[in-house]
Amino acid sequence: MKYVVCIKQVPDTMDVRIDPETKRIVREGIPSILNPYDAYALEEAIRLKERFGGTTVAISMGPPQAEAVLKEAISLGIDEVYLLSDRAFAGSDTLATSYTLSRAIRKIGDFSIVLCGREAMDGSTGQVGPELAEHLEIPVITYVSKIISLKETYIECVQLLEDHYETLRSPLPVVITVVKEINEPRLPSLKGMLRAKKTQIPVWTKNDIGGDDVQFGQDGSPTKVVEIWRPEIKKEGKTFTGESDELVELLIQELKKLGVI
Ligand SMILES: Cc1cc2nc3c(=O)[nH]c(=O)nc-3n(C[C@H](O)[C@H](O)[C@H](O)COP(=O)(O)OP(=O)(O)OC[C@H]3O[C@@H](n4cnc5c(N)ncnc54)[C@H](O)[C@@H]3O)c2cc1C
Repeated sequence: MKYVVCIKQVPDTMDVRIDPETKRIVREGIPSILNPYDAYALEEAIRLKERFGGTTVAISMGPPQAEAVLKEAISLGIDEVYLLSDRAFAGSDTLATSYTLSRAIRKIGDFSIVLCGREAMDGSTGQVGPELAEHLEIPVITYVSKIISLKETYIECVQLLEDHYETLRSPLPVVITVVKEINEPRLPSLKGMLRAKKTQIPVWTKNDIGGDDVQFGQDGSPTKVVEIWRPEIKKEGKTFTGESDELVELLIQELKKLGVI
């Protein structure tokens, strides 16, 4: 079995600035981290290997500095890593991103499970996992909170929905996107950190992964960001004072006035 994890480097801040010209996130000068949801995907791949045997692989599409998240993956115990980096990938929307990842996964080959986080903290579309499955022409199970069993030909998972859980069975290979509930990520080991330090991260360009030129980068991105702005935050508040019974009554009256109750 081969488990391939897609991991993304994201800005380590909630105070994201947007370039008014390009409408893109300004990443220069901002520290970056592994997308928090992807830590759960990495952990689950390592646990699958521990439970059922096999090999773990992590890939990331991004600029050269994204190799930091792949080093982190190695320090946690991932066997193989690849950075997908090429000017041709710049300006990718989710469709082009998932296409690029799918080309790399096809090159890796012989995979049973592709793991993604439920969403990236910066883009937050949650589209890459399902689109990846579409490009690879395989099924997808989103919001996986538990892997119950893995056999030669199928996987059984628990999917977290808004107000209930479902147990789903899918043939392999499959893409799964995971939620925080699935596990508790481990810390890097000393042995892992030493291995990460020594490892030269292999970089794959468009030529290495092949594919249809017009499906990469800006050319392959039908989404155009027309405008981007911050919502206006109206900090309107009302203070009530009095004894607790009185306060409850005042609150009820106010909520009735607003039509909330
Ligand atoms: C028109 C347009 C242009 C854009 N141009 C750029 C640009 O030039 N540079 C740029 O950095 N962003 C750019 N973006 C943002 C970029 O499209 C998204 O960050 C990217 O497609 C992933 O989408 P998301 O962040 O919503 O991920 P989600 O779909 O929320 O991510 C879900 C999961 O998919 C996996 N994943 C997502 N992205 C990657 C990745 N890169 N590598 C490995 N795994 C991944 C992870 O497992 C993640 O947890 C652009 C977006 C648009 C719409």
